[in-house]
Amino acid sequence: MAHKQYKAATKFVHAGVQPDPSTGAIMTPIFQTSTYVQSAPNEHKGYDYSRAGNPTRDALEAAFAATENARHGLAFSSGVAATDAIMHLLKPGDEVIAASDMYGGTYRLFSKIYEKIGIRFHYIDFGNLDQVAACVNENTRLIWAETPTNPLMNICDIEGLVAIRGNKNILLCVDNTFASCYLQNPLDMGADIVMHSATKYYGGHSDVIMGALMMNDDVLREELYYIQKSCGAVPGPQDCFLVLRGMKTLHLRMQKHCENGERIAYYLYNHHKVDKVYWPGFESHPGHEIAKKQMRGFGGMVSFELKDDSYAALRKLTTSLKIFSLAESLGGVESLVNHPASMTHASIPKAEREKNGLKDSLIRLSVGIEDADDLIADLEQALV
Ligand SMILES: *Cc1c(COP(=O)(O)O)cnc(C)c1O
Repeated sequence: MAHKQYKAATKFVHAGVQPDPSTGAIMTPIFQTSTYVQSAPNEHKGYDYSRAGNPTRDALEAAFAATENARHGLAFSSGVAATDAIMHLLKPGDEVIAASDMYGGTYRLFSKIYEKIGIRFHYIDFGNLDQVAACVNENTRLIWAETPTNPLMNICDIEGLVAIRGNKNILLCVDNTFASCYLQNPLDMGADIVMHSATKYYGGHSDVIMGALMMNDDVLREELYYIQKSCGAVPGPQDCFLVLRGMKTLHLRMQKHCENGERIAYYLYNHHKVDKVYWPGFESHPGHEIAKKQMRGFGGMVSFELKDDSYAALRKLTTSLKIFSLAESLGGVESLVNHPASMTHASIPKAEREKNGLKDSLIRLSVGIEDADDLIADLEQALV
């Protein structure tokens, strides 16, 4: 890619964007059009219909590729639609090895939509790579990893998974949403596909739903482009513009998310009412060494449990915060608090959640880029 030689900050500002050739406009125009006029049958300027291609989306897809050091990027109408496109590569009888702790919507897609058409899923603790290796057989087609995981911040060793895949006919896909492309680049470690919910850190302003896939292999890109075009889960040009705009400050936002995340993780860790804090920056975190090896920072997501694990205590905390808003999603400039068991992860049955260590008392924070002192004061008044 043309942008490969630049450092991260330069890439985030310039990736994918060329001045508009017809006007010189420095920002990619929002090409709000469904179709394109042809000069003669099948003679056109490279675009025939916006499901198949749109210049604003092209700019975003080039930017997605550049920011993950990938040859190719594809944009989808949501993160889940991007995951769904990968699942369309599989056929009945194929097997998938997925982490037992992952985003609830991915679990729902796998267990409720794809299991019934004959794809088999194994949910494994990715902290134990021997278990993952033991699960591989001749039907395995996809290893689906998420690191850090949502919401327990578990870390899996991407290079360890690459070794397990070896040169077998298995795709290794990493959901890189929590880390963001600023902190972690799985393709550089040997993964085949990176998936992002661009709704989160890429967009960064809680104003758009979007998904992304990045890959290096040209054939895989053609297959996934064919699925994107045929199944049609494409984002509109206005949404592409918003993500292009958000991406320009991704590095600055992530630096602040990391800084504030660390302040809040330690504050909670030392609070007498807080029981357990989940943040990969702690030396005591089981994935800390791997996180240090494969990430350039620990991010802005922090989960914790109160010592008083009653619903009343949880309700009091989540409703008395003034800066943190009680809402699903993450990765925006503003801080959010979420109760996974009843909100983002409610689609995972309670027994399944508890088996994986996700307690009903877990609280997840998406730490924004506000002043850390104000955020801590907000937690302090809510924890009295
Ligand atoms: C939000 C999220 C998704 C799903 O993305 P949408 O844009 O909401 O469809 C997938 N994985 C992770 C880790 C997420 O946080």
